[in-house]
Amino acid sequence: MLWLSVAATSGLAVGLVAHRHRLSSAISEQQQLRDDLRHWEHRATHDPLTGLLNRAALLACIEQRLVSTPRLAVMFCDIDRFKAVNDGFGHDAGDLLIGEVARRLENLTDGTMAVARLGGDEFVVVLDADRAEIFSRAILGAMRSPCVVGDRMLRVSLSVGIATTTSTSSSPTELIALADSALREAKRLGGDRIETVTGDQHLQRDESIRRETMVRRAIADSRTVPYFQPEFDVETRRLIGAEVLARWLADDGSLMRAAEYLESVVDAHSYERLTESAVRGATPLIDVVLSSPFADGFRFRVNLPQHCAPRAWRDDRIVTLFGPSSLDWLTIDVCTTAVTDDLDAATESLNALRMRGARVCLADVLTADLRALDSIAIDEVRIDGRVIGSERPSDRLQVDTARRVSEQFNATLSAVCVETSEQSQHLLGLGCTRQQGRLFHHEVTALEFERLLLAGTSNHSFDPQLA
Ligand code: GH3
Ligand code: MG
Repeated sequence: MLWLSVAATSGLAVGLVAHRHRLSSAISEQQQLRDDLRHWEHRATHDPLTGLLNRAALLACIEQRLVSTPRLAVMFCDIDRFKAVNDGFGHDAGDLLIGEVARRLENLTDGTMAVARLGGDEFVVVLDADRAEIFSRAILGAMRSPCVVGDRMLRVSLSVGIATTTSTSSSPTELIALADSALREAKRLGGDRIETVTGDQHLQRDESIRRETMVRRAIADSRTVPYFQPEFDVETRRLIGAEVLARWLADDGSLMRAAEYLESVVDAHSYERLTESAVRGATPLIDVVLSSPFADGFRFRVNLPQHCAPRAWRDDRIVTLFGPSSLDWLTIDVCTTAVTDDLDAATESLNALRMRGARVCLADVLTADLRALDSIAIDEVRIDGRVIGSERPSDRLQVDTARRVSEQFNATLSAVCVETSEQSQHLLGLGCTRQQGRLFHHEVTALEFERLLLAGTSNHSFDPQLA
């Protein structure tokens, strides 16, 4: 009996223990589920690199605050010339820098503000409009001390665009787009600064926002692709170079004509970005050519914008792309206005490029104020083949000017848009051997260009009539 009761008691105890065990494992399972849920919720609303809010959470946060806060500010921050850090020190260093900037932003905020990372080097802070100005100055101030990135100290700056709500209702996406447009203005003015836009300025900026956004989107979505316009030496009949062109794919994947987008690109002050994306895209082919038997004397031509953005020369946005190596494969096409916009900085940049082997080609002789170009060495003068042989006074003036300028600078002549054999022969008579245009070949993709190069390798010659 006793044995039985002991057995019953111990059975009960065992049952109780098992029950407790089940209960505690159910509790820890529930806890685990809660942790998992929290983890997934956090992942869905936060940026994995910085732990800041992500885009979706930011939109929800602005939506919510628009209801409760009468005057709200959305502050768009972007690191200036961040790509140079990625390019110069590697993507991991770039990640560390993004983390450091995020930490500095977070340290400045209080519970009434929200900080998000939209992606890349873009951050957004949402706060009461009355505090926006002081806060944005504090952000720029916080960036003054160098950032420790691995074993390096990097000095970086931010540009800030602020949009505030007005009496007219604004949606979260509108506010972000508006702040982005103010940020673009801050970048255009040289970066490391704050620009503010109110809803009242919205309408005026609407069209330029649309255009610039279109260009930025196209570049981000890899819808701009590099094309190559082959250049030939008509005397030796050899392929000796190519102009790098940025071409744009339409929604259906077809190639748009340059005239369809170039005006928008220039209006949106995005020519530099387009060139930059084309040169980036062209880099693999450039590397192939430079390691081929054709490397010697082969030149890729890159056009700089007709007008330079403020500080463009000083910040060397495109120039940094070329890295520190020799540039004896590069010809830079410049327009006079881009040089005279910021003569000192342009002189310094172009002369530094020449020291590294690049050639400088003047692309617009007619508008050239030659006195302004005294400080710059010009290696080449470009001429449009279509004006050759024309009787129009303006065309004849162009030819004469090109000749005169090339003599004055002791520069060679090169021709674009050569369409007929007569034009080509006439140009040759002027000493212009480097020519490109429809007569020789149309522009091609990187793959087609490689084929063209290989065909050149086999016969070392080129017949314009067959192209
Ligand atoms: P700007 O002065 O006009 O802002 O030019 P920028 O060089 O800072 O370049 P931009 O802001 O246009 O581009 C940001 C770059 O950040 C583009 C991309 O290569 C890089 N990027 C995007 N996401 C990441 C990331 O998660 N980590 C790192 N290291 N780089 C990123
Ligand atoms: Mg940036």
